[in-house]
Amino acid sequence: MSKIGFIGLGIMGKHMLRNLRKAGHELVAYDIVPASVDAVVTDGVERGVSCKDVASRTDIVITMLPDGPEVEQAVLGSGGVLEGAHPGLILVDMSSISPMSSQLMGAACKEKGVAFLDAPVSGGEPKAIDGTLAIMVGGDQETFDKVTPLLKLMGSSAVLTGGVGAGNVTKLANQIIVAGNIAAMSEALVLADRCGVDSAVVFNAIKGGLAGSTVLNAKAPMVIARNFKPGFRIRLHQKDLRNALLTAESKKVALPLTSLVQQMLIALMNHGSGDLDHSALVTFIEDMAPKTSSTKQPE
Ligand code: NAD
Repeated sequence: MSKIGFIGLGIMGKHMLRNLRKAGHELVAYDIVPASVDAVVTDGVERGVSCKDVASRTDIVITMLPDGPEVEQAVLGSGGVLEGAHPGLILVDMSSISPMSSQLMGAACKEKGVAFLDAPVSGGEPKAIDGTLAIMVGGDQETFDKVTPLLKLMGSSAVLTGGVGAGNVTKLANQIIVAGNIAAMSEALVLADRCGVDSAVVFNAIKGGLAGSTVLNAKAPMVIARNFKPGFRIRLHQKDLRNALLTAESKKVALPLTSLVQQMLIALMNHGSGDLDHSALVTFIEDMAPKTSSTKQPE
């Protein structure tokens, strides 16, 4: 059984590590926050003191970090994975970052004889806990085949979508669709409310029709209950849309809807909502509307 290094023990990483441990894998764990390492070190999970240290003691390293700059620091920086890497090491970056950053790291790994996959996930904390994430992978078939059994301990699906960077292109596509859905849902529910029609009634009436979606089913109840506990934070979704826009610009692709929603998320962050669930996007639409319903519900 391979010894696995796990770097990044935040909301997602700590649960993903636990699912690997439950299956019997020996692990070396590291995070820049020592308390996060303390929380996972148990029988079979050793403490790593740096990314370099983790790489030197393991066969496969998994990173689950906030964004590209953190992953580049952890992999390419001083004391990073590549300083401790040995030929044959496999690095699987499961963070959601820009595909261009993945390709940069893929090339640096190749020079050192390290195989690299980008493998971002969808599903959030509940699915990280259950080991039922959807995993979108970029890289070569041989490396993908080697790590698929591990990915299947963290996710219910793992799909090879193309070469290095393709996993994060797929993740950006996912994030664009989710953001647009939440923005449209927000406008719809605020309009209904200001017309004097109960949003819960609207949700129940439309969820089985063409407007129904996984996003609507997950997020409309949160809006109706005014429960904006994350979930997926506004600041992380803003980061994903920024990466989508940067990637689009590099390919001369215009993404007007994504750009608009990203601007809303920036405004919400400036007003102290960055750590709320992304369903709190509805508050941006509410703030532009009259405070109360101006139309009586028809008799
Ligand atoms: P998080 O901020 O909770 O965790 C990131 C961890 O990385 C933190 O513990 C932090 O201390 C650590 N870290 C940062 N820089 C480091 C470095 N240089 N070396 C070592 N450790 C470092 O984030 P998260 O919610 O676990 O998300 C991780 C990634 O997964 C992000 O890219 C996010 O977009 C993506 N994602 C998150 C969710 C979700 O619902 N939270 C869902 C899908 C995908």
